[in-house]
Amino acid sequence: KANNLGSKIRDEFPIFKNNEKSVNGQTKPFVYLDSAVSAQKPKHVIQAMVNHLENDYGSVHRGAYGVSIRSSQMYEDTRHKVAKFIDPKINANQVVFTRGTTEALNILAYGISDVYLNENSRIVIPAIEHHANLIPWQQAALRKDCELAYISMLGKKGNQLTLNLSEAEKLITKNTKIVSLAYVGNVIGQINPIEEIIAMAKKVGSLVILDCAQSMSTHEEYLFSLGADAIAFSPHKLYGPSGIGVLAMSEELIEKLPPSTFGGGMISDVTLEESQWISGPAKFEAGTPPITEVCGLGAAIDWVEKKGRKNIHNHSSELAKIFLDGLKNINDIEVFSPESGQETIISFRHKKIHAHDMATILDSENIAMRAGHHCAWPLIRILGVDALIRCSFAAYSDRDDVEIALEAIKNASKKV
Ligand code: PMP
Repeated sequence: KANNLGSKIRDEFPIFKNNEKSVNGQTKPFVYLDSAVSAQKPKHVIQAMVNHLENDYGSVHRGAYGVSIRSSQMYEDTRHKVAKFIDPKINANQVVFTRGTTEALNILAYGISDVYLNENSRIVIPAIEHHANLIPWQQAALRKDCELAYISMLGKKGNQLTLNLSEAEKLITKNTKIVSLAYVGNVIGQINPIEEIIAMAKKVGSLVILDCAQSMSTHEEYLFSLGADAIAFSPHKLYGPSGIGVLAMSEELIEKLPPSTFGGGMISDVTLEESQWISGPAKFEAGTPPITEVCGLGAAIDWVEKKGRKNIHNHSSELAKIFLDGLKNINDIEVFSPESGQETIISFRHKKIHAHDMATILDSENIAMRAGHHCAWPLIRILGVDALIRCSFAAYSDRDDVEIALEAIKNASKKV
């Protein structure tokens, strides 16, 4: 049952009050249903970042003075907190702060191609991945002249799509060196069968990478204990700030992978002829890192743990289910997300109103939903559409959001 988390915590999010709109003399609440692209921020996170900037801000690992020492302490303490949040099996030395999931996956694909791939290797990913977990592997395959094989989907249209596991089993053979996939898909919100895929990969000695951008705020399994060798996520989808990402790797990967960005903070020696890297996460953190954002990430983890990821998941997926049921009563709607009701994302289209027009009509009602290809062109092509509209739920979403959105979608055909 929905625990009504949304209404209880909405006041913690200043964005909602600050974006109420007056339309024809009527106050329209801000209905934010695009949390899959980025989540809004609670005061707890905002205040932590303001406090840091007002009292403690200094560059990290570079100063012998108070604010730098305090910032460095906070930065490294947060690394410990992130490690614990991901899996008690890993330690802080396995956690790299990046600029986002995208940069994390690029670091992995570049480094892994350098160390683990040759022309006989195969990389396996689902065909429906976000571009951030597709293009880096395309580039790796091009660089190494090796094979990139795609796991296709079963079912062609509508809400029947699932990963073709028997095909995955055929593709994941002893030449397979990498299997990389999202835990939760960003377009239709499917929860991928990671345990089955990890088992297939481990059987043939392949590395497994999980793109956890969409799952980190709602799924709390210990991913390294499940068998992942590396995971990536973006704190901005976890009620934290943008501009920072997390890449966690096995001890083997963090030791073996070469850096792909070079500069200050990552060297043990530099001469005019050559340079040596330090070991551990700093090897991948050249330049001044996102310091205040790391502080915000720490606060976001505290906030999410206090609310409970299971709670957030149950609440968001319950709202998604109610929304999905409501969509079924509206003419000309075609739904592309799975039926099972476990997800927090519902993607759909209106057969007579283009997704971009729908998003604009909803915006005129102060409702934010994303329309487009959602950074997954291959999936959009598999679905046989040119764009989808995506409605996604989070901890602060509530029943009013669902009802207002359904009403606006129902009335949209009167506006075109
Ligand atoms: N993978 C998935 C599944 C995503 O949803 C996203 C964000 N849309 C990314 C990767 C990329 O994350 P970021 O833009 O924060 O780097």
